[in-house]
Amino acid sequence: MSQYDVIVIGAGPAGLMAAGQAASLGKNTLLLEKMKTPGRKLLLTGKHRCNLTNTALVPDALEHFNEGGRFLTQLFYRYYTDELRLFFSEIGVPTVVQRGGRVFPKSEKAQKVLEALLSWIQSSGVELITEAAVSELKIFGGKIDGIVAQTGNYQAPAVILATGGKAYPGTGSTGDGFAFSRRAGHKIIPLRPALVPLITGGNTAQKLQGLSLKNVSVSVWVNNKKFTQLFGELMFTHFGLSGPVILSLSRQIVNYLQGDNQVDLRLDLKPALDHTALDNRILRDIQNQGKKQFSSMLEGLLPKKLIPICSEQIGIPRDKKISQISGAERKQLRLWLKEDFKFSITGHTGFEQAIITAGGVNTAEVDPVTMESKLIQGLYFAGEILDIDADTGGFNLQAAFSTGWAAGRAAASD
Ligand SMILES: Cc1cc2nc3c(=O)[nH]c(=O)nc-3n(C[C@H](O)[C@H](O)[C@H](O)COP(=O)(O)OP(=O)(O)OC[C@H]3O[C@@H](n4cnc5c(N)ncnc54)[C@H](O)[C@@H]3O)c2cc1C
Repeated sequence: MSQYDVIVIGAGPAGLMAAGQAASLGKNTLLLEKMKTPGRKLLLTGKHRCNLTNTALVPDALEHFNEGGRFLTQLFYRYYTDELRLFFSEIGVPTVVQRGGRVFPKSEKAQKVLEALLSWIQSSGVELITEAAVSELKIFGGKIDGIVAQTGNYQAPAVILATGGKAYPGTGSTGDGFAFSRRAGHKIIPLRPALVPLITGGNTAQKLQGLSLKNVSVSVWVNNKKFTQLFGELMFTHFGLSGPVILSLSRQIVNYLQGDNQVDLRLDLKPALDHTALDNRILRDIQNQGKKQFSSMLEGLLPKKLIPICSEQIGIPRDKKISQISGAERKQLRLWLKEDFKFSITGHTGFEQAIITAGGVNTAEVDPVTMESKLIQGLYFAGEILDIDADTGGFNLQAAFSTGWAAGRAAASD
């Protein structure tokens, strides 16, 4: 049986960082990846541009995480954006800050990030074996002893589980690590897909399929009570709604839906105008274009695809003369543009299309400084396997890199 100081399971961002750290500290480190190539999900991140992290201050960043995110507080004060950007610049990946504090590689290529990480782990001395699915952890007397993989049995006093979550399983993240952790005695907080597109009732979204609205404000109503609101970009799909604003809101919506609540989304298509300003605008259009048809007035207010939907929903025929629009109809149009264009949410897509997994290894059972299990000596966790999930914006990758950094260094100091 081959003997190592540290074994890392899973060559995603967390595992690559952990293995590189352990090897840089002089440890004989083995990294096992079940797919043919490492870092498959990393290549998809940020639409292949890889949103590595975010410049939000630590307290603000933590607001973007689930409750489990508090577990990251100490760690983020030790290893966060500045440290990660410095690390990447040292391995040949300079970064730039874009809208909303999002940090990307200057090249805007996830491929370059992966290549740099792979050449760094290689020069640090990590032994990487691909097509090496791990099937079992060997634990004796409360201590880790090694693992069983497709390629053989390996022994080590420190094993880092970085197998990711269950989202986008085609990338290799099929949730194997949750079963290993459960067998080791860890509690797994129930797994849910998070950052997912939403399924809507009726067929309005389908009629608008392919349309993207860049500047909308979306409010979430649960049992007819407004809960939250977010501004951003939305897309209509063949099953409902997607796009950044929907993915971000979905983290909470998935939980509301599990509680069997009635969830509706209302769109404010004119968030830059309050009701009075919008009414003035509509009034001006009516005065200036009186002889034309209602549809030509809508052309100035809406993308083409939305015009028939608007006219149908507010019951004003598209060929009605603008001069004949009554005060009540004007009000109806204003309300539709600001709040009456709504969708009932009947569900969400599954792990196949989720950006991240909510739930995972209970962080209460993991040391927040070392990432070591409080139950099994020598077993460490890094990345999405932990019960940590965040909004889009680079926070999830930062969490994977930070926990990988801590686990790799702590495992190397055993
Ligand atoms: C489409 C998409 C876009 C995203 N964009 C961003 C973004 O721009 N910014 C951001 O912050 N986050 C983004 N994310 C989230 C981010 O990719 C994840 O948070 C991150 O990849 C988690 O890293 P990880 O190393 O924990 O797990 P993973 O990246 O899932 O890696 C786990 C690895 O473990 C391997 N593995 C699993 N089981 C075994 C086993 N039994 N034996 C051996 N190996 C195993 C898997 O094959 C995989 O390679 C995106 C996610 C998706 C799906």
